[in-house]
Amino acid sequence: MKKLIQGLREFKNSYVSTHRELFEQLSHGQKPRVLFVTCSDSRIDPVMLTHTELGDLFVIRNAGNIIPPYGAANGGEGASVEYAIHALGISQIVVCGHSHCGAMKGLLQLGNLEEEMPLVYDWLRHAEATRRLVKENYSDRTKDEMLEIAIAENVITQIENLKTYPVVRSRLFQGKLMIFGWVYLIETGEVLAYDPETHSYVPPQSQLPDYIPGDVPQPGAFKSTSAPPVACEVPGSTDTAVAYPNPMPVAASASTPSIAAPSLPDSDPPAAPVAPAASGNGNGNSHTPWLTPEQADRIYRGSARR
Ligand code: ZN
Repeated sequence: MKKLIQGLREFKNSYVSTHRELFEQLSHGQKPRVLFVTCSDSRIDPVMLTHTELGDLFVIRNAGNIIPPYGAANGGEGASVEYAIHALGISQIVVCGHSHCGAMKGLLQLGNLEEEMPLVYDWLRHAEATRRLVKENYSDRTKDEMLEIAIAENVITQIENLKTYPVVRSRLFQGKLMIFGWVYLIETGEVLAYDPETHSYVPPQSQLPDYIPGDVPQPGAFKSTSAPPVACEVPGSTDTAVAYPNPMPVAASASTPSIAAPSLPDSDPPAAPVAPAASGNGNGNSHTPWLTPEQADRIYRGSARR
């Protein structure tokens, strides 16, 4: 506590005093640009990792970066989502999982939790789709690999949960909301972003509208295990590319990290599709205007089926 109290003084004396204008501006209200959903894990700091300023991110944090489906819980998550979108007019959401997530470890050993941490047990029910998918489809993997896959899949599960909110649904339908999935790798400080078209994890900058293919070295990959670079590996992937209306509403990210181990297993896992040229935003792609976001959504999920 002493450290915290000293920190308060330092914050006021150094940071606040050199950012007078910012604080003056913030005192009149907030205008965050992004709703950032991430884990409570102490090793993550959304503002630090995105190198943003106070006031830039509206943050929801809890164990496992979970958003309970609409109506499934009377917690703060739903209210915060609604407020962020409706009241603050936020049009971009990031769901950010992370390597070595304790909540995801718990999810994979749910039975042990029921007695010792009943509240955590209850909470993790909102990630049941992740647990079941991993158990039923990846049980031949090592424990580390299953954890990586669970982390990656859970980001996608929570994006799906987000889409059960009427306000989210409606804004997606209008093409006024984008949802991104990220996984933060604690060991390297990197972030990888899920690309729904290729179902691969790519460097997040490749999803920017002004991205120049080739600018970014390589797609994300698991570095220390043979887990597939794409948790929801899709057979044939790209030919089922979802045609979203204009702005790509959903781009999630995830990749699973693991303890740093140098060699990239490029033989074992299906090679990660290279960062999609023009991944997402706008232009070019097979844009089929008659496809409603809901249909596109169904295809998107469908493509993840095994
Ligand atoms: Zn976590």
